[in-house]
Amino acid sequence: MTVYLVGAGPGDPGLLTARALELIASADVIVYDRLIPATALVGARADAQLLYAGKEGGGPSASQEEIEALLLEHGAAGREVVRLKGGDPFVFGRGGEEAERLRAAGIAFEVVPGITAGVAASAYAGIPVTHRDAASAVAFITGHEDPAKSGAGGGGFSLDWGALARFPGTLVVYMGVRRLESITRELMAGGRAGTEPAAIIQQGTLPDQRVVTGTLETIAADAAAAGVKAPAISLFGPVAALRSELAWFESRPLSGRTVAVTRARAQASGLAGRLRDLGAAVIEAPAIRIQELGGLAPELAGYDLVCLTSPNGVRFLFERLHRAGRDARAFGGARVAAIGPGTAAALRDHGLIADVVPERFVAEGLVEALADVPVTRALIARAAHARDVLPDALRGRGAEVDVLELYETVAEPMSDRQREAVAGADYVTFTSSSTVRFFFESLDGAVPERARLVSIGPVTSQTLREHGREPDVEATRHDIDGLVGALVDDVTHAIPGAESE
Ligand code: SAH
Repeated sequence: MTVYLVGAGPGDPGLLTARALELIASADVIVYDRLIPATALVGARADAQLLYAGKEGGGPSASQEEIEALLLEHGAAGREVVRLKGGDPFVFGRGGEEAERLRAAGIAFEVVPGITAGVAASAYAGIPVTHRDAASAVAFITGHEDPAKSGAGGGGFSLDWGALARFPGTLVVYMGVRRLESITRELMAGGRAGTEPAAIIQQGTLPDQRVVTGTLETIAADAAAAGVKAPAISLFGPVAALRSELAWFESRPLSGRTVAVTRARAQASGLAGRLRDLGAAVIEAPAIRIQELGGLAPELAGYDLVCLTSPNGVRFLFERLHRAGRDARAFGGARVAAIGPGTAAALRDHGLIADVVPERFVAEGLVEALADVPVTRALIARAAHARDVLPDALRGRGAEVDVLELYETVAEPMSDRQREAVAGADYVTFTSSSTVRFFFESLDGAVPERARLVSIGPVTSQTLREHGREPDVEATRHDIDGLVGALVDDVTHAIPGAESE
């Protein structure tokens, strides 16, 4: 088997390569570093062995010796091993040393390049590392030379900073935050102009990316004043000035906003992904979990109307049918109604086109949409403890109505870390009444005052009011698109600082 030396990119999970994701998904063993994207291991096999090899807050870390021994051990045992590193494995990642060691031991290895921080952080800061008019070369430099290396004259540098000062192009320095002051001094001493544009990019490509710009002369003091910390890339060269025109990361609609998502974990990814794409830092704080209720497959053919009120309802109804060896034909000639487009899409995935989808995606909307549909016997397949608007209305019209409870929403306990993260949120999104109820419950009512609360629609808003909070934003279209749109509108129009107290 093979040991793969894999680059995980600079931090944004979207910058993991297709090959990296594929190998993460099939590995027996993953040996990973600290600076890998937070979600990089989500796709790993449930039975994969995940071994952390990085430093945590300056604490003890596995030594390079120990890491290499680990790779040899698992590689020799015939396992598929992924050695996952931040950025690119061969750019200041000690991947070269690991490859040499594997080669010497006769263990097959492959290298999967990753997007290196020097290129990625610069790009996300709006700085092209080369430019036809401004830089025809780029140098990647370590600002943290191994002090054990020979030739490290006094200050620990074995690099020839005088030569680097004369380098005709962009200088990109990794690991140099603590030595920024001496690095810039050496460069100026070597003849580089103090007026040359400079930038430092902390947490590049991540939602909390910070960029400080200045000149070679000022950047060390500027960075210190702004409290810039590792991991950061420092960049010197005329291209740094292009940021003033090309900065894009910070100008996305939700850049700089922290948004908490309270939906069930299994459903959160769509909403969370949309918010991230718009630039938000997303806190996943699921307040609820969906739990299937046991029961037999219903005899659908006896109904002339079957109503589905959520994608989960569709999922669990079909699971019951499948367990009974049945499929979509079980619906026979019944009309099928869906409460909204999400539910209709879930039906379509099972080969059914909904006959009725209301314009307003709430129970009242469905009642209206069904006004002209003849109904004698209806089945409403839905969650336990849901509102009775729909069954009551259909019964009021003389129909015989059965309610089939397929699942219930239960509280998902919140960890202290999630609670802390939520306390810093600018927005908290609620996609149902149950998210409101369980979110308030798990925070013991201590829902952050400063956060603006976003509701998917009037029913959820009402539940917020029952918990003593007026929603700050209510979607006019009661689905995920509508909720995201309303949030973006609020960010665009809200007067900063006017919302709280
Ligand atoms: N192999 C990695 C570099 C490892 S050295 C790569 O190719 O990117 C670690 C250094 O990389 C950090 O000290 C910092 O200078 C830089 N770095 C890593 N991730 C970064 C990020 N998200 N933003 C800015 N710099 C980063």
